[in-house]
Formats: sequence, C-alpha cells, structure tokens
Amino acid sequence: MGNVMANSISRRLEEVRARMGKAARRAGRDPGRIRLIAVSKTKPVPMIREAVAAGVTDLGENYIQEAREKIPQVAGDVHWHFIGHLQTNKAKYAARLFDWVHTIDRKEIADALNRRAAMEGRVLKVLIEVNVGKEATKSGVMEEELMPLVEHVAPLPSLSLRGLMVIPPLALDPEEARGYFVKTRRLAEQVAARGIPGVAMSELSMGMTADFEVAIEEGSTMIRVGTAIFGPREMP
Ligand SMILES: *Cc1c(COP(=O)(O)O)cnc(C)c1O
Repeated sequence: MGNVMANSISRRLEEVRARMGKAARRAGRDPGRIRLIAVSKTKPVPMIREAVAAGVTDLGENYIQEAREKIPQVAGDVHWHFIGHLQTNKAKYAARLFDWVHTIDRKEIADALNRRAAMEGRVLKVLIEVNVGKEATKSGVMEEELMPLVEHVAPLPSLSLRGLMVIPPLALDPEEARGYFVKTRRLAEQVAARGIPGVAMSELSMGMTADFEVAIEEGSTMIRVGTAIFGPREMP
C-alpha cells in the first residue's frame, strides 16, 4: 500500500515536472526559476511525507486549523505556503507556521500578520492577491486598490512583499485564464516600476492543475498544484 502510494505520487510529480519543463522551454524560460508548490489541503500526512521523500520542497495549505495539525508532523527542509483566505484572528498561527502567505488582500490582514510575525521574531514573505476577474465572490484586491495596499505593506518591517498572486475565474478551457495571467504580470510590472523601497515584484503565483502550463508561458514563478500530484480531493 505504502509503495503503491509512493510510486503514484513520485510518478505524478515526474509528469508535472516534465510538463513544467516543456512549458518553460516553449516560453524560452529557465525551468529552474519556477517553483512547484504541492498543494496538500485535505490530504493526509503520510501522503505529504511521500511527496517530500520524492523531492517536494514547497507545500501549500488553505486552512489554518488543518495546517496546525499537519505541519508539525512533516519533517524536513520544507517551505510552507499559506494560500487560503486568511482571517485576522488566525494571523497568529499563519505567522508561526508559514514561510509565505500568498493571499494578502486588505490592510487589516497585513497589519495583523506584521504584528504577529514581529512577536514570533520572523519576517514573512508575502504576496498580494489580485482579483483581476473582478468577481464579487472572490477575495483579492481590486486593481484600483492595489497601489494603496502595496504602499501600506511596503514599510511593515516583519512582512517582505515579493509579488502578486491570482486565481482566475473558473473556466473549462485553460486558454481563458491566459488574459488574467497577462494582466497580473502587467500589474506587477507597474508596481515594480514605482521603485518603492522594500517592494520586490519578483514572484508571480499563478497556475493550478488545470492551467499551470499557460501560467508558466505567461511568467509564473510559483505554480500551486494539488490534484495533479495528490489526486482528486473529496469535497469537504
Ligand atoms: C486548492 C488550490 C490549489 C490547487 O488546486 P488544484 O486544481 O488541485 O491544482 C491552488 N491554489 C489555490 C489557491 C487553491 O485553493
């Protein structure tokens, strides 16, 4: 049983890495510059350990309660990425457990994380989530609110702003996501052009199982892949 699982995870990882490499080459990019974040939400610790044994260095989780249970059980030199919606009353745990938070979308959460990271004596690497699809039901900052939020986050001493994250509107065809990835890249370029101290726009967190190749073609530096590595999730 353990072997079957290990084999399928490492085989799936190999497939994902091969597809990453192809997409990068199509775009004339260095595949080594694209970080694969294995999204392990809802998946049990033994599967996560198998992924780490197969060479995964970056893991993503969406829910603080679940992360509090699982992260301490996973050994090894792993970078943890928080990619879910974050509530201010959970900032304490996010600051303690994670290296990266991809979903900064309002001043309150930036302030809470900054305060909690300072108490932990840590500097958290953060991304601002942008709602380029302008979807009412999605989190993420609207385009016109991006600059004010960047300017707010920039001077916070315990947060290091590294780039932008996007979840495009759900689509059947990955090509439909391309325009949103391009838009996100352009927004990052506009932010970078301001040359604000303490702000790097070197990371674009774009692409999931359904659309990571398109995301890589459009400049993604971090893809967040769950299903293609761990298999389908059961609905919570
Ligand atoms: C669940 C999730 C993923 C992974 O999705 P897959 O389609 O399984 O690859 C990526 N990003 C975010 C924000 C998620 O919530």
